[in-house]
Amino acid sequence: ASTEDGGALRAGQVVLAAGSLSGRLAGVPEALVPPVRPVKGQVLRLTVPRRYAPFLSRTVRAVVRGSHVYLVPRENGELVVGATSEELGWDTTVTAGGVYELLRDAHELVPGITELPLTETRAGLRPGSPDNAPLLGPSGLDGLLLATGHYRNGVLLTPVTGDVMAHALVTGGLPEEARAFTPRRFGAAPMERLEHSA
Ligand SMILES: Cc1cc2nc3c(=O)[nH]c(=O)nc-3n(C[C@H](O)[C@H](O)[C@H](O)COP(=O)(O)OP(=O)(O)OC[C@H]3O[C@@H](n4cnc5c(N)ncnc54)[C@H](O)[C@@H]3O)c2cc1C
Repeated sequence: ASTEDGGALRAGQVVLAAGSLSGRLAGVPEALVPPVRPVKGQVLRLTVPRRYAPFLSRTVRAVVRGSHVYLVPRENGELVVGATSEELGWDTTVTAGGVYELLRDAHELVPGITELPLTETRAGLRPGSPDNAPLLGPSGLDGLLLATGHYRNGVLLTPVTGDVMAHALVTGGLPEEARAFTPRRFGAAPMERLEHSA
């Protein structure tokens, strides 16, 4: 791999884990480019003033009018409200509609949120795969492994992804419980595709 400052990094094995950019890394053979797309998510942060604490003692998750919404109280007094899921390519604009829908749905669950200061609005990009499940393990090209496509659950799945990838790096294969997440499930094994296209 080459770095921005012109340096070169060499390794016997490389794990491609570039999030939503995993399909855009230069130098990956075309037939092996992971089928990862960006899925936009908008999220809000509110602050619970001391006089309202404790405001929520646990996470609240619900489906309101068909949309998933969650409110997560943090120990530092923040309340995170998330998250939209939008198929809009690389767009990361925070929109009035996104903020409105999150506040509307969160308000339906916990009306008191309208009293709280709104301290941050943000949009990020999740790495989605065609079935929105992770792509884990050998890519089909010797020395190139994938750990991407975690969509909405990449933080939650961090420990198990670490364990699975450690296993893959040491043994060259996937543990039984992770075999369903092989990148090869999306058609021919990448190496076979490479040979056909050669
Ligand atoms: C609004 C929102 C809310 C979410 N909420 C949750 C949640 O509650 N629970 C949960 O489990 N998940 C959640 N997710 C999803 C979670 O953030 C992702 O699944 C997770 O971040 C994916 O991890 P990753 O390491 O694969 O990719 P990323 O976290 O995107 O990390 C990839 C890294 O690779 C770097 N990179 C990319 N290209 C290059 C390059 N060419 N050279 C060097 N570095 C590069 C990037 O800078 C980045 O640091 C949420 C996502 C969003 C947007």
